[in-house]
Amino acid sequence: MADPAEVTPGAAGTTPAEARHHELSHKLAAVRERMAQACRQAGRRNGDVHLVTVTKFFPAADVERLVRLGVGDIGESRDQEASAKMVELGERLALDGRSLPRVHFVGQVQTNKARSVVRYADVVHSVDRTRLVRSLDRATAAALDAGERTAYLKVLVQLDLEEGEHAGRGGVLPDGALALAAEVAECAHLSLRGVMAVAPPGLEPDGLRRAFDRVRACAQLVRADHPDATWVSAGMSGDLEQAVAAGATHLRVGSAILGHRPDPR
Ligand SMILES: *Cc1c(COP(=O)(O)O)cnc(C)c1O
Repeated sequence: MADPAEVTPGAAGTTPAEARHHELSHKLAAVRERMAQACRQAGRRNGDVHLVTVTKFFPAADVERLVRLGVGDIGESRDQEASAKMVELGERLALDGRSLPRVHFVGQVQTNKARSVVRYADVVHSVDRTRLVRSLDRATAAALDAGERTAYLKVLVQLDLEEGEHAGRGGVLPDGALALAAEVAECAHLSLRGVMAVAPPGLEPDGLRRAFDRVRACAQLVRADHPDATWVSAGMSGDLEQAVAAGATHLRVGSAILGHRPDPR
């Protein structure tokens, strides 16, 4: 994973690292402005919508730059990449006494990776099946015992918004969300915080609105049973305005801040 600062030439008079810092600073400010504008239009308070900067495929050097720019929450989606990156980031930040950002795991979790994920993740957004609930609960208990973490794992139930032939690629169908939420709530080491969804790609504005309205409706049902489950994780680089309009509390934004993801191969 190359540091983009080493492959992007800097403008005249700046080093590549300074240029990358400025680029991230500029794009982060632009996303924060989009969020503020979306909140104004939806009549919501700025402080009610949180930004998770998705840093998957980008190196620890970029995450360090983001932390220096005030980013406190990052998102990752692959355990192997994230666990190595967090070790490197910890070493880099320790040099000047900064602490690690909160890590939101937003990708599919294989049950055999649960024990690794709970070493560094504060939140798992993508819980979609009973077996994973049990694995994460056991893994969190073990990590607490081993002194690898001090807090319960926050968990969101991922909703599957795809319809017809595309359904079933991740997430639980909205009908099953209440049952899965109840299973999470019964686990001693998990803390149910709400729901998460990814809008199906290629939707027209109307379809997008309908998709996010289903998320809102499902989130309300879950919250009726579990008053602490107040988070609605929805909205990415391309659709954050629509997500804010539909009540999202957490946006997961990657490419609008970091640029196009490098080819992982
Ligand atoms: C990669 C990813 C994002 C960020 O997507 P962008 O379109 O780059 O903002 C958000 N959520 C999930 C689950 C992701 O995997």
